[in-house]
Order: sequence, then structure tokens, then C-alpha cells
Amino acid sequence: MSHVFPRHCNATLPTATAGDGCFLIDQDGKRYFDGSGGAAVSCLGHSNARVRDAVKAQVDQMAFAHTSFFTSDPAEQLADLLIEHAPGDLDRVYFVSGGSEAVESAIKLARQFHLENGEPARKHLIARRQSYHGNTIGALSAGGNAWRRQQFAPLLVEMSHIAPCYEYAERPEGESLEDYGQRTANELEAEILRLGPETVMAFIAEPVVGATLGAVPAVPGYFKRIREICDQYGVLLILDEVMCGMGRTGHLYACEADGIAPDILTIAKGLGAGYQPIGAMLCTSQIYNTIAQGTGFFQHGHTYIGHPVAAAAGLAVVQEILENDLIPQVKARGTYLQQQLEARLGQHPHVGDIRGRGLFRGVELVADRDSKTPFDPKYGVAAKIKKAAFAEGLICYPMPGARDGRVGDHILLAPPFIASEAELSGLVDMLATAIDKVLAEL
Ligand code: PMP
Repeated sequence: MSHVFPRHCNATLPTATAGDGCFLIDQDGKRYFDGSGGAAVSCLGHSNARVRDAVKAQVDQMAFAHTSFFTSDPAEQLADLLIEHAPGDLDRVYFVSGGSEAVESAIKLARQFHLENGEPARKHLIARRQSYHGNTIGALSAGGNAWRRQQFAPLLVEMSHIAPCYEYAERPEGESLEDYGQRTANELEAEILRLGPETVMAFIAEPVVGATLGAVPAVPGYFKRIREICDQYGVLLILDEVMCGMGRTGHLYACEADGIAPDILTIAKGLGAGYQPIGAMLCTSQIYNTIAQGTGFFQHGHTYIGHPVAAAAGLAVVQEILENDLIPQVKARGTYLQQQLEARLGQHPHVGDIRGRGLFRGVELVADRDSKTPFDPKYGVAAKIKKAAFAEGLICYPMPGARDGRVGDHILLAPPFIASEAELSGLVDMLATAIDKVLAEL
């Protein structure tokens, strides 16, 4: 009997024993193409020599030094590199161990900024429905996914949720993309005015929505309007790039494509690329200086913040992405993947939408294409496709349709940046086979 407490209790999982490029290998030698990088983590595949060497060298040199006493070379160098390429005025980096910690840090930083800036009434956070920002209580409170929230609701922090920018399902026929974007963004203004602008601390959103919607970018102009509204009412803009950041969408920071910069930005997953658990929160000098010149102490922290081995891995990952020109490669291969998906699944009667940016793509399954009606959640279509794809030798990330809206079951694809065109067409073949098998059985 295994003593590991698995996510799905009673699940019998294969044992992953080795990694080779874009593949994971189990105890029987079966190879699985990592079509979702786990959950958009393994952007460099599973056997990157530079990152492995950097981790080993750092362990040999010095494994750990607590940040109450020391900084470290890898943390300093990684922060410099992240800031050198960061949008807007982001110029300080707070390292953590993953995405939820980054989001928790961002929420607490926003609150502390307003306190030290003389606006203690600003405590209200606004997010979007059908969003996911992590599983710890604060980050779960921010998220707007009813299914994940329901049993923990009494523990959650009070929040407001506005509509996501989800053009495929929610733009009425006849409304232009621009008008839809402006109208949806203006929901933020309406909510700020409803709450009273002097009480609102921050708005949080993913530039390209990952897990809950399946690689959905906002329509052009949406985030520009969001930025204007935040500026007008003194509300901090937190962009959560835990999943979509670090080159995944064909930009180092996903928000570059929207032409805006946040006050606080979170990253994780692709930053450590699976070689180490690491996340980070970036903030502007204005926020940092307000605290530095006020109490001088960010009232937050975890034992492993700024872990030198994690930072060494992150540094090697970002160097590898930048020095090997992987970002243009992500753009080109992303376009190729989209074309392959459209060629194979574009006319499929149960594929409603294929979307995304870079190597971050989503395939939405529907019961009926014309009305865009999702499958009844009782069929568990996405979970069945995950299982069938796994049997084919493909790892893809399923999400059930949300029970609180018009979101259908979808499959998220986030293959390693190093995947070749041949490997990407193999991914599409395996996915299409799995979809057909599952739907034939329904
Ligand atoms: N934010 C977003 C956008 C995410 O996709 C996730 C993880 N799926 C998180 C936060 C939480 O990250 P972690 O699982 O590393 O805590």
C-alpha cells in the first residue's frame, strides 16, 4: 500500500521514473508526451542540462541561507534578469515557493501599501468569475470558481467577482469585439463605484486565463480600459501570470501583448520549469518605496523565500529561454499548433472553440456547436478525454465545465517550448483520437 496521500484518493497512478526531453517515462518504460507541461510547468522539458547543472552546482556550493540573515547570488541575479525584462515600473522581486504563495504575497502587499499610504479603508479585492488564483485560503478567496470555493466558503475572505472577458461564450452576436471588451471592462468601474472607490484595494486577473477557462486571452482593448479604471480610482492592478507568464504565450510576460503593465505581477510554474519549486511577486518602486519609507518591513514571509537552489534553477531557466531565443520559437510553434488543431478538430461537431496564444492553447468541447451549449457536467467529458489521452501516451490538462456559467469542458495544452513540429502534430493526433474515442462512447 502506498502511504502517499494522492489528490484523487483511491487513484492508482503509474510511477514516473525518468524524464527525456518532452517525455515522461513510467516504471514499465511507457513514454508520455508532456502536452501540458504537467500544469504549464515544464517549459524546458524534463532533461535540460543547463538547469540540472545549475541546481547541482548550487547544492554543492551552498544549499540554504535564511533570508533574515543573507541574500544570495542566484536570487540577486535572477531578480536583476526578471526586472531587466519586466514591463512598466516593476522593479522589485519577492521570491516564494509557488503560485499560491505569490498570490497571497500580492494581496497582502496591496493591503499593506494602502495602509502605509494613508488609505486604511482600502481592503476590498475584486476578481473575476471563473478564475483561479491558487488553493490557499486568501488565493482561493480571490478565485471565482464556484466548484473549488463551495465547501470552503465559510472560511473565505469576502470578495467581489465581475465577469471574465470570455468572448467565445459571452459576447452577444452583433456586438463588436471592441465594444464587448469595453463593456466587460466597465463592469470593474461599476463594481468600484458600488463598493465606494475609497474602499477598494486591488483588482486581480490573469492576462490569459489558464486553468478555469482554457487559454483565453482578453479581447483587444480590454486590459487598456482595466488599467485606466484602476488608475482613475487608485486601485492597484495585480496580474496573475503564474500560469501564462515566463514565455508561455510568446512573450516573457504575457501582459506585454495587451500593452499594459500592472502594479504587482505574480509568476511561478514556468519560472522553475519543474526543476525547483519557485514563484515570485514583482512590484513597482512606488509600492516598495512606500513601505521602505514607512514601517520598512513587509509583514509577510515564509521559511523558503529566496531559496538559493530554487533561485539558481530559475536563473538558469530564464537564461535558457532568453539566450536560446525560445520566445520567438514559442510564437512560431504556437501558430503551428493552432493550425494543426484547427485542421484536425476545427470542423469537429463537438469542438466549439480552439484558442490561445503561443504554446498555451485551449480546446473547448460542446454538446452543440451552434448554440455553444456545454456538455452536461455529469458526463465528465474532459476527465474522460484526459484518461483516454493518457492511454494513448499524451499528458493533457482537463477542466470540467464550470457549474456557474456557460463554460464548457475544455482541454488545456501547454507543451514544452522545445517541442518540435513533428512532436506537436503527434500531440494533435493523440488528442483527436482520444476525443473521438470518448465521444463515440457517450
Ligand atoms: N494562479 C494561477 C493563475 C494558477 O494557474 C495557479 C496554479 N494552477 C496558481 C495561481 C496557484 O499556483 P500553485 O499551484 O503553484 O500554488
